[in-house]
Amino acid sequence: MLPKSIQDLAEKMRYFPGVGVRSSQKLALDVLQLSPEKYEELIGSLKNVRAEVCFCDNCGFFAQKEAEQKAGVKINQLFTLMQDQNHSLQFVCEICKDTTRNLAQICLVEKATDVITVEKSQFYRGTYHVLQNLISPLDNIFAEDTSIGDLLERKIPKLLVKYPKVELILFFKAGFSSEATTAYLKEVLKQRGLLDKVSLTKLAQGLPLYYNPDTLDQATMAKALEDRREA
Ligand SMILES: [Zn+2]
Repeated sequence: MLPKSIQDLAEKMRYFPGVGVRSSQKLALDVLQLSPEKYEELIGSLKNVRAEVCFCDNCGFFAQKEAEQKAGVKINQLFTLMQDQNHSLQFVCEICKDTTRNLAQICLVEKATDVITVEKSQFYRGTYHVLQNLISPLDNIFAEDTSIGDLLERKIPKLLVKYPKVELILFFKAGFSSEATTAYLKEVLKQRGLLDKVSLTKLAQGLPLYYNPDTLDQATMAKALEDRREA
């Protein structure tokens, strides 16, 4: 019934999770209704979002590629503290640029989108470290497939030069890979004699065992962070 190009665009809209047949058609028709200016803006934004967004070199969250950062301008203390010849902080996210954040508190999350969930609580004022994956030997995912190496080799040693203690807050979905990742972190910290300087905490009990971080509400999130306990 619909012209082929609309059907084609509707099919592409279904790339997005949660968009079904009917809403995909509606979106395609909505695109067709846009004014020529808005249509060009949309095309421009679609192109830019891939070209101009990257992962933060310090924490792994989404960062904007900006011209002044490419020139290596030092924005805050983070750059002097966390950067070295092996690891340049070329692109840094808004959270890492925020000088009011507590650098000695790092929330470990699996995916960049989990950062948005924790930020929603409006309670947490530390920084983040996105692991990309959780360790899951059964799925052939090991420590080297995560960014734990960067955390243990670069971040923690550098932070311990400046801060007497560092807290790692684990924000993982409950499950086997969460336990495997926690056990690995504990073991490495123990081997390095760092357990008295680096504390591992996790969110309070009371969260449902298989909670979905995406749907946690702000109050529950803030309470869970406040009541965190030793992992
Ligand atoms: Zn960052």
